[in-house]
Amino acid sequence: MRGVVQGVGFRPVVYRLATEDHLAGFIGNDTDGVIIELEGPEPRIDSFLKRLTAERPPLARIDSVGLESLAPLGDATFRIIASEVHGRVSTGIPADAATCSDCLQELLDPVDRRYRYPFLNCTNCGPRFTITRRIPYDRPQTSMAVFPMCSECRAEYEDPLNRRFHAQPNACWRCGPRVWLESPDGSMIQSADPVTETIERLIRGEILAIKGIGGFHLAVDATDEAAVARLRQRKHRYGKPLAIMLRDLDAARAICELTTEEEALLQTPACPIVLAHARFDNGIASGVAPDIPWLGVYLPYAPLQHLLFADPRVKALVMTSANLSEEPIAIDNDEARNRLSDIVDAILMHNREILQRCDDSVAAVSDGAPQLLRRARGYVPLAVPLPLDAAPILAVGGHLKDVFALARGRFAYQSQHLGDLENPTGLEFFEHSLAHLSHTFEIDPQIIVHDLHPGYLSTAWAKRYASERSLRLVAVQHHHAHVAACMAEHALREPVIGLSLDGTGYGTDGRIWGGEVLICTLDAFDRFAHLNYIPMPGGEAAIRDPWRMAFAHLKGVGFSEQEARYLTGASDQEARLLSRMIDREINSPLTSSLGRLFDAAAAVILRRRKVDYDAQTAIELEGIAVKESDRLKRTEYVPIFAESDSPKESPRVIKTAQLWRALVDDLRGGVPQAEIAAQFHAGVAQAFIAAVIGARQFTGIAQVALSGGCMHNRRLARLLRSGLEQEGFKVFQHRQVSPGDGGLSYGQVAVAAAILEQEATHP
Ligand SMILES: [Zn+2]
Ligand SMILES: [Zn+2]
Ligand SMILES: [Zn+2]
Repeated sequence: MRGVVQGVGFRPVVYRLATEDHLAGFIGNDTDGVIIELEGPEPRIDSFLKRLTAERPPLARIDSVGLESLAPLGDATFRIIASEVHGRVSTGIPADAATCSDCLQELLDPVDRRYRYPFLNCTNCGPRFTITRRIPYDRPQTSMAVFPMCSECRAEYEDPLNRRFHAQPNACWRCGPRVWLESPDGSMIQSADPVTETIERLIRGEILAIKGIGGFHLAVDATDEAAVARLRQRKHRYGKPLAIMLRDLDAARAICELTTEEEALLQTPACPIVLAHARFDNGIASGVAPDIPWLGVYLPYAPLQHLLFADPRVKALVMTSANLSEEPIAIDNDEARNRLSDIVDAILMHNREILQRCDDSVAAVSDGAPQLLRRARGYVPLAVPLPLDAAPILAVGGHLKDVFALARGRFAYQSQHLGDLENPTGLEFFEHSLAHLSHTFEIDPQIIVHDLHPGYLSTAWAKRYASERSLRLVAVQHHHAHVAACMAEHALREPVIGLSLDGTGYGTDGRIWGGEVLICTLDAFDRFAHLNYIPMPGGEAAIRDPWRMAFAHLKGVGFSEQEARYLTGASDQEARLLSRMIDREINSPLTSSLGRLFDAAAAVILRRRKVDYDAQTAIELEGIAVKESDRLKRTEYVPIFAESDSPKESPRVIKTAQLWRALVDDLRGGVPQAEIAAQFHAGVAQAFIAAVIGARQFTGIAQVALSGGCMHNRRLARLLRSGLEQEGFKVFQHRQVSPGDGGLSYGQVAVAAAILEQEATHP
């Protein structure tokens, strides 16, 4: 059996089922999964296999079963045989999993020997990836190596019928890690119980750093407006929403309107932060997620977090990664002391080392199914299948929010979210994770894949790495990689129409793309249509100051400088400067980005001049429209996609002039912002649907892959999917990797593997 079958309590379950069914034989770990030999009457073996599928341990995933018949040996008993793993591994390390219900019960049971023990776990739950130094996943290779098990823990560990059989991080009060509370200056805070003292301090409004599973969190009482404001001020983080942790599902229901799918997502062992619609007047401080109707909520996933919520006074905690701006999350005790002393009032420490840095994952239900926006704790390092065989490949991803991917055979392994590579600690984190994952999966990359952008740090890194080792380099266009990621997830080998709707990515014409209709196979693409090119005055500065983008759009589609100035709130001087930059083409690269069109529209509709965080305007624009109908009331909102006269002329252009005039008319006519925002979404979706229909007429292709950072916008995703399905298209969306740049490296792997396959078959 292959899949996630090691380190997840698979062998004890097999042992129990086989003994109950009076089957003889054995189970043992193998390089590729587990091998089970069963001896007994055939119907009983069949029923065993059915039961195993139904009763498999919660963290196990059976990907394939190979069956073979042997002559009976006359065995009478069933045994678990010692694992001898030789050669290559393909199972590796499981992902970290939230505390299971059995462990939670023990944690809160006053007569249990692990009552209130902050590190209890079993084979169905607990840390995995984050505490593992190297493979095989065995206690001596983890940060639990320094805690020899006591006799009771050892007995559990060795008993095949125990829930803790071979639970590598197994521990208790007598033998395991412990917690303590420190002042920011590093001195110990004396108290009867550090957890209780932490709770008292949180209730008083203090800011605490709390060591978790994949890193430190900064915690404050999420119902305390002043405490939240103080955290923002000390962390220098303004505007960007903060995630909150809630006691349990009932508490989450009281604060958010949850769908069944969202409730299920909250309770998965991966325990991601879920973006959900906030209830009105829910008691959460308004500073937690200003100006948007959603909250990022999640449930406790470590015993220590459950203990904080065991006090009924703790209702909701801001739990945000402990870092300054774009630095990676802090994991090491000294690192936390150094980096967090100016931010926090106290630190709840523990002495189980975190070996792999891993942020919380972020997910949302988009169109009825989960979509990962940040794939990290709970998902990494689980493999994502590939639809074709890959040579050993390393794909380095994009620029900001980087994630790399390693691949071999039919599997790709994405790293956790790494953050900004331009930060020196970010690059260190990248190299550390690369060394760890390539060792774990025994992948020695022979092909290095990078983005086409010559200025990306990841590109420079890839070029240097490949030239030092004389490895083959493959460059992949950004928006092709986005669509390829969606294709590979759904094993699509036939051509698709790809909608790559994005912030920015380097195009084959040297311009900045991002509103693209591409005809794609995995190995190649044609650009069928794109949004009209608009200058980005000041380059990156136009992303930080969306009014610049609005000014350029308005001017670009024919508004006068005077009108553009008025509509964007620019000063005379700013308008003159921007006009000059645009007219003389000074530092004003051309872009077809849909992300930038959203920025521009938001700047005009919401009068927002600056952003505090990435994609803020788009999020706010989606947010303000949330209660509005999807229906398009004025067709003038639809950008014009015109088929060119000569069908050979490509790419075609989607023109936004009419959209802008409708928007400005409505704004002047006093139409509510929310309605204009909704009409803008509907219009943009309609234009891209028209372009996709045009692409079908041209190519006969009727399947569409939706990708790119703009697919984080759930309203846009829903409008596109439903509109395209009405027109008879089959529509594919991301489910396993992020639609944004977090999914890029997986797409890069798929493109490179397809190019190599093509070369091998057509040399
Ligand atoms: Zn457990
Ligand atoms: Zn113990
Ligand atoms: Zn992108």
